[in-house]
Amino acid sequence: MSQAALPSYSTTLWRGFRSRCPRCGTGKLFRRFLKVADNCPACQEAYHHHRADDLPAYLLILVLGHILVPLIVTVELLYEPPYWLYVSLWLPATVVLAVGLLQPIKGMVVALQWRMGMHGFFRG
Ligand SMILES: [Zn+2]
Repeated sequence: MSQAALPSYSTTLWRGFRSRCPRCGTGKLFRRFLKVADNCPACQEAYHHHRADDLPAYLLILVLGHILVPLIVTVELLYEPPYWLYVSLWLPATVVLAVGLLQPIKGMVVALQWRMGMHGFFRG
């Protein structure tokens, strides 16, 4: 695929966020929850050489921190709820957001590596 035929960065990232192949946008990027497929089932683009490593987890912490901390501080300042309410509200919210966002964030990292031609995605 030539550089001119590549999708835009925003399209690539959106496809990765939706856990779809960044090249064709239809094939699934993951074969299991966090296991990237070796190849796209639709267009056969190879993804086995991605190197997402720990970046998705770091980005997840960054995103969750910016979502949850302002909410927690705002609720504390406005309502001063009891601690049992904190545990029953924020702990499940954190778990649900973490599990729900980890695959989309990893998809975006792999898609960005693919779009930039990093590591094994190099298109000389
Ligand atoms: Zn594909």
